[in-house]
Amino acid sequence: MKPATFEYMRPETTRGALDALASHGDEARVLAGGQSLVPMMNLRLARPAVLVDITHVQELRELRVCADAVTIGAGVRQLAVERSADVAAALPILRQGLAYVGHAPIRSRGTVCGSVAHADPLAELPAIVLALDGVMVAAGPAGRREIAAADFFRSYYTTALEPDELLAEIRIPRPPERWGSAFLELARRHGDFALAGVAALVDVDDDRRIRGVRLALSGVAEAPVRAVEAEGALSGATLDDGQALRAAADAAIRTIDPMSDVHATSEFRREVAGVLVRRAIVLAGERSIERAKSVR
Ligand SMILES: Cc1cc2nc3c(=O)[nH]c(=O)nc-3n(C[C@H](O)[C@H](O)[C@H](O)COP(=O)(O)OP(=O)(O)OC[C@H]3O[C@@H](n4cnc5c(N)ncnc54)[C@H](O)[C@@H]3O)c2cc1C
Repeated sequence: MKPATFEYMRPETTRGALDALASHGDEARVLAGGQSLVPMMNLRLARPAVLVDITHVQELRELRVCADAVTIGAGVRQLAVERSADVAAALPILRQGLAYVGHAPIRSRGTVCGSVAHADPLAELPAIVLALDGVMVAAGPAGRREIAAADFFRSYYTTALEPDELLAEIRIPRPPERWGSAFLELARRHGDFALAGVAALVDVDDDRRIRGVRLALSGVAEAPVRAVEAEGALSGATLDDGQALRAAADAAIRTIDPMSDVHATSEFRREVAGVLVRRAIVLAGERSIERAKSVR
């Protein structure tokens, strides 16, 4: 199918993009990589009257890796982030998770901010940004405002962004050097949206004792879920403490509400999520130990 008729605008500045959004209200949508919006328009699941293409806005294309944070502008493609050696060193979980996002041709067009703004509960990047305590920088008619990831994702395809705002950039604070990370998911085929996914960041001391952990899950509720209770269940445990790992998985399962569909039942998704939580914690913990050796 072809999309319904729409007007196409191609501003070259953020101000121009915001003016275009402001003058068309709910009728306008930002077009970034088009990898979700265009298929939805072709299927007539979305019928925006106006598309505001932000890919020619130079100032939104910045990918900045600093000592304290990584900043990803709205125009930065997923593949650019995945291939950046600086990003891989600062936040390896981005590359670990991006490997699961569709296929390379999709990532060569799709943007990181587009995936986060789209807020598909099955998507990898929203869960990763949540685990990393990322900060969304929204630009709107009144200026910029910052929204913590924990307050950003509201429900299916719904975020804290207003219709006249765009997600200008995502700022992700760098965890301390010693933290290891892992992103794991189960999909029916590589590149498919997953049945469930887990982003884990873990800090382990020299005695394999867990000093810090952050966990977020995708695909198991109407928005990505930060598994705070599960994080608490691991406090003081060692990486080899099977009981604590099982308690963390059970706590994570209690906080999720997966759907049943043609791909899997809710029960199966819960089961998968629990297994992935345990595996992701151990893998991230082992990587923490490796990183500790290299920073000594
Ligand atoms: C075959 C296929 C398989 C895929 N598999 C996966 C997968 O496994 N995992 C996954 O996560 N994704 C997957 N995707 C989606 C892909 O990651 C998209 O690139 C991503 O969801 C949207 O990014 P985009 O830049 O293409 O945004 P667009 O498609 O351009 O926009 C998506 C939505 O976000 C809004 N938007 C975009 N950027 C901004 C912004 N800066 N500010 C405000 N609103 C904005 C748009 O208005 C629109 O509503 C797949 C896509 C395809 C076609």
